[in-house]
Amino acid sequence: MNELIEFATIDCPSCGEPFEVEIDLSAGSQTLIEDCRVCCAPAELRIEIDAEGAIASIEAEPVNG
Ligand SMILES: [Zn+2]
Repeated sequence: MNELIEFATIDCPSCGEPFEVEIDLSAGSQTLIEDCRVCCAPAELRIEIDAEGAIASIEAEPVNG
């Protein structure tokens, strides 16, 4: 079984700095919580995977609390 891992760069919703996240394309559209590499604040990433198995869009929002 192939693993489809892709790296994407997102802008941290807390500090605005870009950082890289690892996305498992085989899991389909998903929501991930990733800690910013720069300010360590958690960010909620809503990732949409299209029918071709590619990243359609990524939205990043700060996680409060
Ligand atoms: Zn940050």
